[in-house]
Amino acid sequence: MNKLNFDKLNNAIESMPIFGAVSRVATKSGIEVYVVGGYVRDRLLDIGNEQDEADFTVIGDGPAFAAEVAAEIRVKNVSYFKNFGTAKFDFQNTPYEFVGARRESYSVESRKPSVEKGVFIDDIRRRDFTINTLAVSLNEPGRGNLADLFNGIADLEKGVIRTPLKPDETFSDDPLRILRAIRFAAKLNFKIEDETWEGIKKNVARLEIISQERITDEFLKILSLPKPSVGLKLLHESGAFTFFFPEISLLAGIEQRKEYHHKDVFLHTLEVVDNISAVTENVWLRFAALVHDIAKPNTKKFVEGTGWTFHGHEELGARMMKRIFRKMKLPLHELPYVEKLVRLHLRPIALVDEEVTDSAIRRLVVNAGENLDDLISLCRADITSKNPSKVRRYLSNYEKVMLRVKEVEEKDKLREFQSPVRGEEIMKVCGIPPGRMVGVIKTQIEEAILDGIIPNEYDAAYEYFLKIKNRIMNN
Ligand code: ATP
Ligand code: MG
Repeated sequence: MNKLNFDKLNNAIESMPIFGAVSRVATKSGIEVYVVGGYVRDRLLDIGNEQDEADFTVIGDGPAFAAEVAAEIRVKNVSYFKNFGTAKFDFQNTPYEFVGARRESYSVESRKPSVEKGVFIDDIRRRDFTINTLAVSLNEPGRGNLADLFNGIADLEKGVIRTPLKPDETFSDDPLRILRAIRFAAKLNFKIEDETWEGIKKNVARLEIISQERITDEFLKILSLPKPSVGLKLLHESGAFTFFFPEISLLAGIEQRKEYHHKDVFLHTLEVVDNISAVTENVWLRFAALVHDIAKPNTKKFVEGTGWTFHGHEELGARMMKRIFRKMKLPLHELPYVEKLVRLHLRPIALVDEEVTDSAIRRLVVNAGENLDDLISLCRADITSKNPSKVRRYLSNYEKVMLRVKEVEEKDKLREFQSPVRGEEIMKVCGIPPGRMVGVIKTQIEEAILDGIIPNEYDAAYEYFLKIKNRIMNN
């Protein structure tokens, strides 16, 4: 049972200036207005904060009402979407949206409903889930009264995602709600009620009427949650992945045999994504974790005595990325980063052997470039063994590789290292021709820097040079 925080909600409604202004305009004009949906839900669950964006349902003309509120609080920029009966403005850095109450009816081809003016209940019943139907009145008397027409409070307490109307119709009308249900379940750690879940599974094919941009947007929101595996699993189990990311659903059932454990590639991948998500919010690093083994189904081969092998899956996986990015309308400027991480995800571990040459290490550093740290994070996240001593050994292997990287970088730095005071200047100041003496002075300056006597900077080196030059030349 979730304990709901009614105080948080009441305090926000009483103290936030926007609600005061909306309430004044509503009471004066006699137009009914409610704050509705996510804002009410999140205060009761005590997540986010009272400065979050909010949506208002106006029983009447939404844009006209928004204009009056804007005037009341001296907001100049209001965006009107008259065709949709909505208006938006920012106040104190928060966006607020006003919608005229509406009744919606859907046709089969499109998720865009035809919309008519409606009364309060029409507006509430068109909403996706009971937990999103809660509305708080802003009219006096009665400001702060909570309308709960579909048992949203009970479902919030129980932690349940449920549609207010018949699930089958709800998801068929607007299949984007499938992804929203999964996102809310994953984000809030709620259970999708059985009949609602059946409605989801029955209607996944309807996702075809949703634009790729909207699907991808929801998908990336799910991938950005603290523990993405919860949502990714639901995307798989509902069948949604087969519609918009079939490569991921193909990972399920691919068995891999590594020494003593067998694990499905999909389940392994979920663990890797959760592991990386514990250390980064970078959604593209998370995405790379999700797809790092994506070519395993295509490269799987059984080798007698060894078990299943997946030779070349990292290279093939990297090559699959472009098509996936295009199809999913992912931002193409992130493509090289993801390709690189997928392509290189086996390289660090191949370099753990002490026999490995400096140049092999150098090649990794050059190939990974500025993403070397992310690559190592991915490699560490890729360790999903349940055997603690193995985990320790694997982790220390990556530490060894990184130590080698540091060593090689140090060596290279030393090799490139030169006195900040150059030969030409030494010749000019000392009035000497090219020759051994120039080298001796230069080496002395370099040693002083390496010994930490002076910092590796021009001014310090020049001063030091002036100090030692006569002694050296007179020797
Ligand atoms: P969040 O902003 O955290 O994603 P939210 O519930 O505020 O959650 P919004 O997308 O901002 O979601 O939508 C505001 C409200 O509009 C929701 O609470 C819900 O009542 C309603 N809503 C949004 N999208 C849909 C939809 N596809 N079908 C039905 N109702 C919806
Ligand atoms: Mg919202």
